[in-house]
Formats: sequence, structure tokens, C-alpha cells
Amino acid sequence: MKEVSRFPAPVGDLGWFSTAANKEHVFSDPAALATDYDFVVVGAGFGGVNAAFRLAENRPDASIALLDALPVGMGDSGRNAGFMIDVPHVTVGDPKADLEHHKWRCRLNTIVINRMREIKNRHNLQVDWRESGKHLAAREKRFLPNLDNLARFLDTIGKDSRTFERAELAETLGTDYYVRSLFTPGTVLINPAEVVRGLASALPRNVQVFERTPVLQVLEGATPSVRLVNGKTLRAGKVILTVSAFINHFGIPQSGRLYGVNSFGAFTRELNDKELANFRNIEPWGCTAAHAAGTTVRYTASKRIFVRNGFSFSTHQCTTPERVHDARGKLRRAFVARFPSLEHVNFEYVYGGMIPLTLNTQSLFGEVARNVFAGTVGDGLGLTRSSMLGLYLADMVCGIDSEELRYLSSTNAPSWCPPEPFRTIGANVRLAWDEYQAGGEI
Ligand SMILES: Cc1cc2nc3c(=O)[nH]c(=O)nc-3n(C[C@H](O)[C@H](O)[C@H](O)COP(=O)(O)OP(=O)(O)OC[C@H]3O[C@@H](n4cnc5c(N)ncnc54)[C@H](O)[C@@H]3O)c2cc1C
Repeated sequence: MKEVSRFPAPVGDLGWFSTAANKEHVFSDPAALATDYDFVVVGAGFGGVNAAFRLAENRPDASIALLDALPVGMGDSGRNAGFMIDVPHVTVGDPKADLEHHKWRCRLNTIVINRMREIKNRHNLQVDWRESGKHLAAREKRFLPNLDNLARFLDTIGKDSRTFERAELAETLGTDYYVRSLFTPGTVLINPAEVVRGLASALPRNVQVFERTPVLQVLEGATPSVRLVNGKTLRAGKVILTVSAFINHFGIPQSGRLYGVNSFGAFTRELNDKELANFRNIEPWGCTAAHAAGTTVRYTASKRIFVRNGFSFSTHQCTTPERVHDARGKLRRAFVARFPSLEHVNFEYVYGGMIPLTLNTQSLFGEVARNVFAGTVGDGLGLTRSSMLGLYLADMVCGIDSEELRYLSSTNAPSWCPPEPFRTIGANVRLAWDEYQAGGEI
């Protein structure tokens, strides 16, 4: 496999990480890095942390290293909107939704949410984790059929949902921007940086976590090895790559089938008592949009408004400060449209990240080179999906069979994607068209 030439970097001001209570947690001392491990996991997002947890459970005597180029929680696992979603996402308005497939996805989403909740409770992790559910909210009447379709679909697969009409919704959210929402109770709203860092801090003793340890190259073979940017080389029995869209830079055969689309998030400063007048008796909440290109909004536990929107394609598969700068206008307009009385409130943090996607929304999952395994998400539900990929990759490398593993192995094959320059041109046209279509949902 080839040398990596682009590495993750913090882009913008990372609000979730900056406000995480555990941001000062100290992981393993770099001096403790050994030269031989049974397993090396590269990438300490939700995928990598779940993989390391399961490896440690499956093989309590094995030595395991979990490496990340950034502090845990600074990668995309700590830069998203913090919706840990149990129900299907992509079926909104899609009449051809495959029932069996989505039942499976719900089941797997629920398995990983329950598992992370159990770890959090067992270790008494003090992290921002709220069983709030989520609203799929529509501003424009033309998108109401998307809500109705999803409600019917959820009913078919036995998942609860409930409709909120305008007045009740305004009382629940503290904004009258939306005309209707479909509420589903199973989503957990988290500070994702705090939760992924918390889970990493609870890893069993046979896992060492090394932050700020960028990997330069992975060499496959009977005994694969991992070359670090700092000149050290680690030998491993098996390597698991949970590096999300950065996998493109590692030179695996499937690279051209995966891509990361930039998206952006912003937090206001903490609202003061006067500004909180409209939020009296209102609990923290989260709304995704009735159109896939719309704005995601949260009223957070720290009494801030969070907004996420904007999609742009990066040919080089990274996020840049310039793109974060350009994203501010759209984020700001979405915030002011929903909360006009808070127009004077500044954004304290604005940042960018990448949503890893594939054309057919299937993940990369399995062995990508001899003794090198990888799991990379293929749609917008990355928190639950990366967690399940990590969990079952760990079972795969340990030879532990299950119905769930067989399902994941048989259904994850990212489809062909056009080469450059057609990919960038095509993606940008499609993203611009989607945003145009989304209208008031942005
Ligand atoms: C703005 C935004 C909002 C989003 N909102 C949501 C949401 O609400 N819900 C949801 O489910 N999903 C959301 N997503 C998607 C979600 O964040 C990702 O799908 C998820 O983080 C993928 O997890 P992962 O563990 O696979 O990868 P990551 O979280 O990206 O972790 C990969 C890790 O690999 C490390 N790495 C990469 N290259 C190297 C290297 N060479 N050496 C060492 N380490 C390396 C990175 O530093 C990173 O920490 C959002 C994404 C964005 C950008």
C-alpha cells in the first residue's frame, strides 16, 4: 500500500471538542509505543474505538494499539452534529426502500447504541448523552409527503414515530419555523467528541491509545507493519483501518469508490437568560431536515444553538479553512431564519469535516490487503454505522461468526464511481442541484 500524503487536521474551531469536559484526558505516553502488537487499529473515531473495544473483549490477552493522527474527538467523529440515529435515514421519500435491508440496519443501529450506552453506564462516564429522540422537520409543505412516507415505512417495520403539527412543534422547539415534524424516539443526541473520547478512556487495559500519531504507510503481508510519520515501525498480527474517507490516501484497491463530502457546523455562544426566554421549559432537542440537503439544528445541553449545513466536494479529500470561511454565510442565514430574535448572537465555533459516502450508500467492509482490514461508512448515518463496522470487523479478524457479521459481509460492496475529473464535476453539479431543490429546508 502506498505512502499517505494527506493527513487529517483540525479545520476551524471545533466546538464539540472545545466544550468537552474530558478534553484534557491523558492517553498512553508515546514513549510506551512498542514495536510488536497483535492488533493495530488506525483511526480512533467511533469505528476505531468500537473495533478496539471488541478486540480487547474477544482477545483479553492480546496487545492492541489504537493510533490517531489527531487527539481523540478531533476527527470527524467529534465534528458532526451528534445524532446517533437508530432508524433509516435514506428512505425519506424513497418508495423503493428495501424493507429487509432497513430492518437489518435498524437492528444493527440499535445493537451498537445499546452497547455504547452499556459501556457508558458501566464506566460511569460523565458525557453529554441524551435519550432525546429526533424530529425530522419540514418548513415547506411540498416536503410533507417525505414525512408521511417515512412514517408509513417506520410503521411497516414496527418502529414508533409521532407527528408534531406547527403549534405543538413551536412550543417544543422554541421556533415556529417548521410546519410539521415526524418525531422518532430512538435517536440519542450526544456531544460526539466527549462521547468518543469517553469511550476511548474506558478501553480495557490491553489497549493502548496513542493520539497525535499519524500513520505514513501500512504494509500488507504475513506480518503486516505500520510505518509512522515519526520514523517508527510497528509490526502487527493484523491491522484494522478505520480512517474514514482518508482511506483514499492509503492506496487500497477500492479507493476510487469512496469519497468524503465536506459539510460544516456552527455553534452560537451560550445564550443568556434574556435570550433563553423563548426556551423556558424546553429540553435540548435535535432536528434533521425533510430534504437531505437541508439544515440540521440542535438546541444543546450547553444552551447554545447548533446548525449544520452546506455540502461541497473536495477533489483532494480533505477540508480546508477557506471552505469553512465560505460556509459561514449559509450557516448564519439558516440560524437567523429560525431564530430571528437571536440575530445579534455570534457564532463562537465554526468548523468543517467530511461525510464519507459511496454512490450506492454501501460501506467498505472487510479485508482490503493481506491481513489488513478496513471499515468505511457509505452514507450520512456515520456514528452508528462506523460503530457497527468497527465492532464486526473486530469479530471478523478474530474469526467470530454471527448472523450480523454475515449480513454485513454480504451487503457491503461500494459501487464504481466515475474517475476524475468527472467525479468532481458530477458531484458538484449534483450537490448544487440538491441544495437548490431543498429551498426553505436550508
Ligand atoms: C458536519 C458533519 C455533520 C455530521 N453529522 C452526523 C450526525 O449527526 N450523525 C451521524 O451519524 N453522522 C454524522 N456525520 C458523519 C460522521 O461524522 C462520520 O460518518 C463518522 O465520524 C465516521 O466515523 P469513523 O470512525 O468511520 O471515521 P472518523 O470519525 O473520521 O475517524 C477516522 C479517524 O482516522 C484518523 N486518521 C485518518 N488518517 C490517519 C492517518 N494517516 N494516521 C492516523 N490517523 C488517521 C482521523 O484523524 C480520524 O480521527 C457528520 C459529518 C460531518 C462532517
